[in-house]
Amino acid sequence: MTRPPAERARIRDRLLDGARFLVTSHARPDGDSLGSQLALAEALTQLGKEVRLVNADPPPARYAFLPGASAIEVAGSVEEDGADTVVVLECGSLARTEVSGLAGRFVVNIDHHAGNTGYGAVNWCDESACACGELVFELVEALGAKLTPSIATNVYVAILTDTGSFRHANITARTFDICRRIAGAGVDAAAVAARVFNNGSLGRLRLTGRVLDRMQLEAGGRIAVLAVDEAMLRETGCEADDLEGVVNLPLAAGDVKAVVLLKAFGAGLRVSLRSKDEIDVRRVALSFGGGGHRNAAGLTLEHPAPDARARLVAGVAAAIAESLPA
Ligand code: AMP
Ligand code: MN
Repeated sequence: MTRPPAERARIRDRLLDGARFLVTSHARPDGDSLGSQLALAEALTQLGKEVRLVNADPPPARYAFLPGASAIEVAGSVEEDGADTVVVLECGSLARTEVSGLAGRFVVNIDHHAGNTGYGAVNWCDESACACGELVFELVEALGAKLTPSIATNVYVAILTDTGSFRHANITARTFDICRRIAGAGVDAAAVAARVFNNGSLGRLRLTGRVLDRMQLEAGGRIAVLAVDEAMLRETGCEADDLEGVVNLPLAAGDVKAVVLLKAFGAGLRVSLRSKDEIDVRRVALSFGGGGHRNAAGLTLEHPAPDARARLVAGVAAAIAESLPA
């Protein structure tokens, strides 16, 4: 899907007309989902709207400094609460919210994932956006809200984190244009980067070392497989969120073309996939019931079979082979 300005205008009108909103995003929130949610919530509040923010999981510690983050309620379900409209950000499907009670309500779906299921009453899905935060920025402008330092900071965190610190695909002139404008509105880029990237625990550093130390190579060294279990978290005093970003590290080696990270804790097996260039790991994720982007995708296996690792590696190896010129 390409950008349909008509959808954005419909969403703007709906938001301007409404009075009470529920704004949610995906479970296990990240910088893009939180930054997008908080920027939009502040714009709506400025316009005199009542906004309720609900997520299935709390913000990770590194994002607790985001302006407005303390207003987020953590709940796995919402009852009929009188909101006119539910805004779902950064979710390829409604199930990604892991919040029940949303189906059947008037849902506005704003997202940048390929293959978004179009679950909303209005759907604005633009894969060319580097982050959902880009779309939210445009919506904030369209609403006529004032671009405050806090909105700007939230949009910046969304873009900074979803582009892997300005390294991923989908970074365009629009990305830098938005960054220029939010910088002008008062973003302190160095301070934001320090809070997000240089404020972790020593345990996180130890966990990273341990995970990399146990890295296995497959497909002639082109696939790096990382695995983490409950014991590794416990021994390093870490939580699942401390793994954020670790999956990208093997890509620093030129020979490594893709990464499979297996997270065996909590319910089922959660898997993160990363790749370089044209290698499409989203299709691998889709074949296991997950989703994501070409170079960053994920999936959850509720009941992983003993050969799950081998099947994932085979899928990624096939994606690498497909990406090579014939
Ligand atoms: P992660 O590896 O968790 O950082 O996720 C990378 C990308 O894959 C993100 O864009 C997610 O939206 C997507 N993703 C992760 N897990 C799933 C899943 N179970 N279903 C659909 N998409 C997912
Ligand atoms: Mn995103």
